[in-house]
Amino acid sequence: MVSLGDTIAAISTAIGEGGIGIVRMTGPDSPSILAALFRPATSPTARQRTPFIPYHLHYGHIVEPGTGEVVDQVLAVHMPAPRTYTRQDVVEIDGHGGIVALRRILELCLRQGARLAEPGEFTARAFLNGRLDLAQAEAVLDVVRAKTDRSLQAAIGQLTGRLSGEVHALRTTLLGALSYLEASLDFPEDEIPAQDIEPQLEQATAGLGRLLADADRGIIFRQGVRAAIVGRPNVGKSSLLNRLLRTNRAIVTDTPGTTRDTLEETLNLEGVPVVLVDTAGIASPQNEVEALGIERSRAALAEAGLALLVLEAGRPPDKADLAIAALAGTTPAIVVLNKVDLVRELPEAGLAAGMSCGLDNAPVLPVSALTGVGMERLEHAMVEAVLAGQATGTAPAVTHPRHKEALGRALHHVEEAQRGYRCGLAAELVAIDLSAAVHALGEITGETAGTDLLGGIFGTFCVGK
Ligand code: GDP
Repeated sequence: MVSLGDTIAAISTAIGEGGIGIVRMTGPDSPSILAALFRPATSPTARQRTPFIPYHLHYGHIVEPGTGEVVDQVLAVHMPAPRTYTRQDVVEIDGHGGIVALRRILELCLRQGARLAEPGEFTARAFLNGRLDLAQAEAVLDVVRAKTDRSLQAAIGQLTGRLSGEVHALRTTLLGALSYLEASLDFPEDEIPAQDIEPQLEQATAGLGRLLADADRGIIFRQGVRAAIVGRPNVGKSSLLNRLLRTNRAIVTDTPGTTRDTLEETLNLEGVPVVLVDTAGIASPQNEVEALGIERSRAALAEAGLALLVLEAGRPPDKADLAIAALAGTTPAIVVLNKVDLVRELPEAGLAAGMSCGLDNAPVLPVSALTGVGMERLEHAMVEAVLAGQATGTAPAVTHPRHKEALGRALHHVEEAQRGYRCGLAAELVAIDLSAAVHALGEITGETAGTDLLGGIFGTFCVGK
């Protein structure tokens, strides 16, 4: 990590045209840099005579100090340390949201001695100066990137310390048990009152188990789930994708496909961000296997959390359908019987055909991508399948795979410690597991996170955040 003592600057708003745009600085020189560049509206040629009133917006201009040229009309604020985002002095200059003006302001700040901020460096400072713990710092990015109300709710929960609070409490419990064990190693028995640490271990396993129970749901709210639409050519995959997108006005983003062959769109299904992956738009098949769509399906399913296997209603699955169905493996799946409009009455036989494709536990849903029949049920079934029936309930505390992994590791070590303790294993051996558990929990909130981990986390932020 780079030095905390520098003054850093960046454009903190999105690049493009906007009503306003903000250049933000933090560090010890930020107030003097602002003073050098700012001219109050009341005396356009003179520097601000009095110091900036903390937390007040000052109206004026940013000028080239050398020439006096006015660069932009702005509102500027100085927030003195430590009651700021970074716990250092922070200056924000609200200019007009045009890229040229903002770049000029940024350049002037740099010329006055600020350094261009690295990605995530403002938030990294907030973390390093103890303003946020690591889980909260990660949540800052989640708030920015939230795709649905529920993603936002989960991110705000984490930002305001919900997960951190729970992890902190668990860590304190384990540290209590650990310090008893360590003291009993260091001091003779009669100086340390005997204590049973079993209740603490019990409390920790229960707490960790509760957090982990909800983690998969939380991860889905945060990052969404990829749903692959697979099936033979012409069964209606593209039509289904279009129908799902059209009937959902809450299309949140257009993600360009990761490969040139796939089309990806994110939609909001009852608060779950679902990235639909359609492979139908692929160029002409290279060989027979490709013609059956098997390779495309395999690729689409590789990263999917949900498979939508599209079959034609009223037509029993053939070899190709079965081969594609088999690719779904253990991925949660829904059998979509498309083109029911072509079938005179919804045939029991058709449903049975869906069921006989080898995906025994998958719900079978008759739809028509053409007329829209059955789409609402399909959408609801998708949410149910993704959340494994836990579609409602409070926002989960755990939303990151990283946190889930660390909690899992902590649980494993506490269970080992518990087993050892119950069998009368030597205290130092039990202590090894307990301290590993404490360490794992510290990785979530950052007490025991190494520089690689920190670099990896803050490196994913944008510049100016
Ligand atoms: P894909 O190759 O699986 O992506 O299939 P398409 O979405 O391109 O559809 C193949 C053909 O089936 C097109 O002519 C569609 O208009 C038609 N089709 C798709 N869905 C339906 C449906 O629900 N009912 C009817 N009657 N035709 C459909």
